[in-house]
Amino acid sequence: MKLIDKEGYEYFEIRINKAVIVFFTAKKDLNFYIASESGKQNLELLKQWFNLEEVGCLNQIHSDIVHDHSGEVLQGDALITHRENIGIGVFTADCVPIILYDKSKNVIAAVHSGWKGTFDRICEKTIKKMMSDYGSEAGDIVVYIGPHIGSCCYEVSKELIDSFHSSFDLQAAEIAEEAESQHLNLQRYIIKQCINFGINNNNIFTMDICTFCCEQHEMYSYRKDNKKAGRMFSMVYLQD
Ligand SMILES: [Zn+2]
Repeated sequence: MKLIDKEGYEYFEIRINKAVIVFFTAKKDLNFYIASESGKQNLELLKQWFNLEEVGCLNQIHSDIVHDHSGEVLQGDALITHRENIGIGVFTADCVPIILYDKSKNVIAAVHSGWKGTFDRICEKTIKKMMSDYGSEAGDIVVYIGPHIGSCCYEVSKELIDSFHSSFDLQAAEIAEEAESQHLNLQRYIIKQCINFGINNNNIFTMDICTFCCEQHEMYSYRKDNKKAGRMFSMVYLQD
């Protein structure tokens, strides 16, 4: 993983086979909030920066809806494609951005998973669609979990913790830890979804950056900055 400076903006880049994964930070106020003019312009700019034909995104609604990239901005929270030179990505400010890559069939996916999407298993549903529609096999899929609000800073209601505990299979120690602290560990549930579908633990990589308390990099955090928070973009594309 490399940290790249682009005209004062900043992103993490991971290159693996034909896939390039990009996690933007909020440095120099780079904002992809799609409802704003500057957000739209910044998305447009990515075509030049990365030499892409299109950059696909969604009108995100905290759902478990997974789409194939079509060029249209649909309602949903995960995008899949196997086409080259097409960027697909998700906007986040605390929610979890997840990038999936099938190294063998060259299929990529970008997933937006906040607590609702995590609870509704959107990551699992994306893997399922990669398998059924693109012939992906679990052993070929690598997973990158980008910056999001860590359990360090994500205190939630007891009711929410309880509903996660009754819906997911957890170890006693995991249950005790969350019940006591009342801090939800979204990443844990996303990793569980991947492992449930046969993805190897060694093929799951986490950035371990908390959007709320990270001091080393600038991050947008909705919980910290509320309506003032911008949106980061996490993107993946295939290129020869
Ligand atoms: Zn934190």
